[in-house]
Amino acid sequence: MAAIDAAWIQDVIETFIHDSPENNLGDGTGEKAFATPLIGYSSGADPLYEAYKEHVGPFFMTPRELFVLTFGNPKVQPEDLTVISYILPQTDATKRDNRKESFNPSQRWARARIFGEAVNVRLREHLVASLTKAGHRAVAPLLSPQFSTRISPKYGLSSTWSERHAAYAAGLGTFGLCDGLITPVGKAMRVGSVVTDVRIPPTVRPYSDHHAYCLFFSRGTCKKCIERCPVGAISEAGKDKMLCATHVRRTRSHVKATYGFDGYGCGLCQTGVPCESGVPGKPQA
Ligand code: SF4
Ligand code: SF4
Repeated sequence: MAAIDAAWIQDVIETFIHDSPENNLGDGTGEKAFATPLIGYSSGADPLYEAYKEHVGPFFMTPRELFVLTFGNPKVQPEDLTVISYILPQTDATKRDNRKESFNPSQRWARARIFGEAVNVRLREHLVASLTKAGHRAVAPLLSPQFSTRISPKYGLSSTWSERHAAYAAGLGTFGLCDGLITPVGKAMRVGSVVTDVRIPPTVRPYSDHHAYCLFFSRGTCKKCIERCPVGAISEAGKDKMLCATHVRRTRSHVKATYGFDGYGCGLCQTGVPCESGVPGKPQA
């Protein structure tokens, strides 16, 4: 069994994003879908995972529950497990294009939503395969048959795992008014995770409040994401998930007619806002 540490995992993820031709926007030019990733780790024993279950609903899986359901080894202890989380930042070109939009997504943004998420799927698979080859067990929650969407009594449309909440636990960011995760490389990103039976020291969370990085919650200012939303889905009360989802679904016809592929997206509240590319008020990573 190979010795796995944080440097080994970082190398697997960064090499894939930097060197693999699979990291592309699907337009035939090879243009990259994502820039240099950020990586963080949380312990399977982190009490946040039990807290998520309490808040979201009993269907939310802890890392151990997912691991036992996947591999059927009930002896595994929560502290034996690590959740690897990563942030895949949108490129400067993708962010620049989407900033100019006021209703529909730019072509690059819609490509990043479809072809970029396919890259994210491949990265999850690659990380699981690399850990397995090194003699460990690993599972990507979102690719697991255990993953499904549910209705939370408190939060409405929810799921059995949350990539963003795992990233929060791994010190990678806090939530904004629009519900996105504000990270040191901003909110314009996609996120992924893999659970494995390797013990990696958890990343320190440089915050104690889940809204710490959002200017609305920390200073009562900003609200730029409210202005950016073309359908009024964001207010001082947060995001209306159904309004947002309805708009995103409606962009399908625009993406097909204008860009010529089957896709959708929006992300206007993730671009052209102070938290787009970093933590507002802090030097960008
Ligand atoms: S745009 Fe402003 S109010 Fe909205 S999430 Fe970002 S920092 Fe918070
Ligand atoms: S993704 Fe688009 S529709 Fe949804 S909240 Fe953000 S700006 Fe509004």
